[in-house]
Amino acid sequence: MHKVAIVGRPNVGKSSLFNRLVGRREAVVADFPGVTRDAKEGTMLYQNHRITLVDTGGLWSGDEWEAAIREKAEWAMEGAQAVIFVLDPREGLSAADYEVADWLRRLGTPVIVVANKIDSQKHEVYLAELWGLGFGDPVPISAEHARGLDDLMDRVMTHLPEDDEDVPEIAPIRISLIGRPNVGKSSLLNAIVQSDRAIVADQPGTTRDSLDVEWDYGGQRFVLVDTAGIRKKPDTAIEDYAIQRSQAAIGRSDLIWLVVNADELGDHELKLANLAYDSGKPVIVVVNKWDLIPDADLKSTEKDLNQKLHHISYAPRVYTSAINDYGIHDMLAEAMKLHDKWQSRVPTSELNRWLEVWQMRQSVPNFHGKKLRMYFMTQVETAPPTFAIFCNRADFVTRAYEGFLQNRIREDLSLAGIPVRLKWKEKG
Ligand code: GDP
Repeated sequence: MHKVAIVGRPNVGKSSLFNRLVGRREAVVADFPGVTRDAKEGTMLYQNHRITLVDTGGLWSGDEWEAAIREKAEWAMEGAQAVIFVLDPREGLSAADYEVADWLRRLGTPVIVVANKIDSQKHEVYLAELWGLGFGDPVPISAEHARGLDDLMDRVMTHLPEDDEDVPEIAPIRISLIGRPNVGKSSLLNAIVQSDRAIVADQPGTTRDSLDVEWDYGGQRFVLVDTAGIRKKPDTAIEDYAIQRSQAAIGRSDLIWLVVNADELGDHELKLANLAYDSGKPVIVVVNKWDLIPDADLKSTEKDLNQKLHHISYAPRVYTSAINDYGIHDMLAEAMKLHDKWQSRVPTSELNRWLEVWQMRQSVPNFHGKKLRMYFMTQVETAPPTFAIFCNRADFVTRAYEGFLQNRIREDLSLAGIPVRLKWKEKG
């Protein structure tokens, strides 16, 4: 894994740069493991390389460059192959900047000097002073306006070691965003891809007017399939068409965002929830326009949602307000989590331990004195996780019992939120 550190005085824009590169405003950030909790670590993608970025921003206590800070920074930067040294040339260089430069020189890690807040060409006159730091050509950027980021990353890449083998293509998570007209799908789409690194790509060979949108977030590539179907609002009168289109989008995706408005749950939602259920793909219920629900109604709204969407009760919910940019991070973070689990494999030994304990603790269906017995269980497929259970009588398994077992499997075997399938096999 490549690792790159960001250093610089307070207020030069390190966090904005970090957030820009890692994702969007709210980056997927892991607390830095180790002595300091003040450095942030995140993952980004660039040209199909995963790069760990460390933002040492939280370490600074002011304009002073102290030994204690230096020590922590050295810890956090351990193993970094390049350092992005962020400066605000419009403010001029301070004594601390020069001290940091000396320290970096001694560390010996390649340094790329970045002049932030260069919002237009006329600001470029400020760059001259940065040459004096002795790290060569400064890269002008504007983290806020996302200018110059690719130039910066191209420079960073020249310092990262070449991978010995071909880098495997990082598989994107393909998502469909479905829901009735006006629930806020296109607003959510806009909120998600506001980062200028999103690419709108025509996908040949699919529906002629389908449009896929690609973007990176937290070191993961995402593709939202058929955004043309989202932007072009179908007339409510041709609802069948909307359903068909959703079905096609689900077919091309790995995961589904089902967008609903809490106060408008009806047939359309039910049909879409069924499509999602039948596909076996993970579904996240995105309850949008959450800002419109008065505090006093939150509990009853929750209850209503539970009732109306009970057949996909396993699906996680995220609450969003597209117009306030609220909950967008949750949509993406939840998608990454579910996608991982959807592809996971539970070892046979673990499954059978679970099955044994389960049968000891719980009563099983019983017909005219004969009991269902489950002998052995194994995972036969992933995506969705599918389990074969060998038993004495498959006809003893009622739908209710199967649903019950599926819930237990999800809870006990770390598959919360995931559709799981069971295949019953009779064995003498
Ligand atoms: P779509 O048909 O599902 O793509 O829905 P749009 O994104 O076009 O949104 C329909 C309307 O709802 C627009 O007027 C949006 O401004 C509004 N809207 C979308 N999301 C929200 C939200 O979270 N809160 C509120 N209050 N309004 C929203």
